[in-house]
Amino acid sequence: MSKVEDLLTAEEEAEIVEAIRLAESKTSGEIRVHIERSSKLAHYDRALEIFHLLKMDNTKLQNGVLFYLAVNDKQFVIIGDKGIDTAVPDNFWESTRDVVLTHFKNDDFKLGLVAGISIAGQQLQQYFPWEHDDTDELSNEISRE
Ligand code: CA
Ligand code: CA
Repeated sequence: MSKVEDLLTAEEEAEIVEAIRLAESKTSGEIRVHIERSSKLAHYDRALEIFHLLKMDNTKLQNGVLFYLAVNDKQFVIIGDKGIDTAVPDNFWESTRDVVLTHFKNDDFKLGLVAGISIAGQQLQQYFPWEHDDTDELSNEISRE
């Protein structure tokens, strides 16, 4: 896998965006996906940088969630904002991460992301239920570099 653009077909990308929309219809949490080829920074640090660059640290309830994927490095990181960290148990993202990685190991990136987004949405729903005045604070489109 050498090109980020080759990772997902347009149809698969649309399915991921739809999974985010569905997840966000049940929670006020805001989920984004960022995909890039590789990073010279440690991947957790890079994911934090992207989180900030995408202004994901600006949500009302501080409940943005980033799925960061560095394709060539085979690295995947989930970052949640402060509002989530203070509300949930320490191992909150573990099951989501496990499911995503299981699919990634089979090179099924679309299924991994869709499944992960769905689980993250269900998890977030318990702590950050959807409210009637909810707005789409962060774009559901995949961010790439
Ligand atoms: Ca929202
Ligand atoms: Ca959104």
